[in-house]
Amino acid sequence: MYLCIKYNIFTVTNQKRLAVLGATGSIGRQTLDIIGRYPERYRATVLSAGRRVDDLIALAEKFRPRLAVIGDEALLPRLRDALVPLGIRTSAGPQALKDCVTDDDIDMVVTATVGYSGLEPTLAAIGAGKDIALANKETLVVAGELVNKRLAASKSRIFPIDSEHSAVAQCLAGEDISHVKRLLITASGGPFRTWSAERIATAKAADALKHPNWSMGRKITIDSATMLNKAFELIEAHYLFGIEPSRIEAVVHPQSIVHSMVEFDDGAVKAQLGMPDMRLPIAYAIGEHTRLTGAANTLSLADFATLTFEKPDPERFPCLTLAHRALDARGNFACVMNAANEIAVEAFLNGRIGFNDIYRTIEATLAAVPFISNPGFEDYVASNDEARSRAAEYINSL
Ligand code: NAD
Ligand code: MG
Repeated sequence: MYLCIKYNIFTVTNQKRLAVLGATGSIGRQTLDIIGRYPERYRATVLSAGRRVDDLIALAEKFRPRLAVIGDEALLPRLRDALVPLGIRTSAGPQALKDCVTDDDIDMVVTATVGYSGLEPTLAAIGAGKDIALANKETLVVAGELVNKRLAASKSRIFPIDSEHSAVAQCLAGEDISHVKRLLITASGGPFRTWSAERIATAKAADALKHPNWSMGRKITIDSATMLNKAFELIEAHYLFGIEPSRIEAVVHPQSIVHSMVEFDDGAVKAQLGMPDMRLPIAYAIGEHTRLTGAANTLSLADFATLTFEKPDPERFPCLTLAHRALDARGNFACVMNAANEIAVEAFLNGRIGFNDIYRTIEATLAAVPFISNPGFEDYVASNDEARSRAAEYINSL
């Protein structure tokens, strides 16, 4: 009996305690898959979601966090009625989504919400000195400089979940960063890789949602079709690894088996390969860059006889060019770009605008919102709000 109690204490104290933001989404659920399969290592103490309250309730019933948070305050009574009888605390609203990351029983915050919504909880986590497994790349796109400034003054560390950045981190393990010549960020090319410009102009949401290799949330799937996702990832790579923008490139690799590469100044190129299965980068991130046996599906290279690489085409995918423009301009450029994209993607998914109108909306919004060269936190908030309004006005005018 005594030994048994001791054993329990031992296992509990060795579990890493995770707050999973965006638990009901694609990355959130795959994170919970890892937590569920490795209970001796991981436990979810906080789960949050935007609006899918029934899904959040089902996950909380299964994973028994201390706290469940829903973004939409109108859904709190439903959440409370279902979970309080189980001894699970509940809260709701934007403030609650931020506050939930700072408690003492959290060792790491997994940011798997979508879009701008990731920024403030991430800053709150950094303020509280929590480590972060970062899926929400928009946080670094919107405010990479501010995030890095706050990180420098905190004991928090960021471990990327994005598969390309996980691949780069794996290639950099044991290396001297001063020998890095280039980061080669691979891109599947999305569902329109082989489509002509004329055909792309007619693409509908149903076409864009058919990603060839990855099953992901709707917003990132559209970003992959426009290739703005790859622009975001070049920006993300710059802020994560501190490599100058001119040495970060996108390479189209339609099979999505090579997740990215690092070229060194002696001519070596290292690549990380694996199945397109996000559970590997998730496990590598929440394990603080350590390996977790059996985390993801194994790769049988014989099933992929040919791996190909090609240059991306900025003519058909002009969103790609926004990465280096954003990294040249700095300031609030990428914050405005991201906000306009969020509004445009929503309008495209609702059938209100055409596929190429996504890029047009971003350009029109960048032209309409004043540039701020050295934004502080409040400037990002204001730029995001204003860009959303200007983007919506532009879409209404179409
Ligand atoms: P998703 O749409 O499947 O899930 C989003 C989650 O965030 C849901 O739980 C939703 O309830 C929650 N959410 C949405 N809006 C919210 C708000 N305003 N406040 C709080 N919560 C909110 O998205 P996803 O595909 O899991 O992507 C999540 C993030 O991970 C994105 O930033 C995406 O770019 C990144 N990412 C995803 C993948 C992937 O394979 N899905 C790969 C790499 C990076
Ligand atoms: Mg990616």
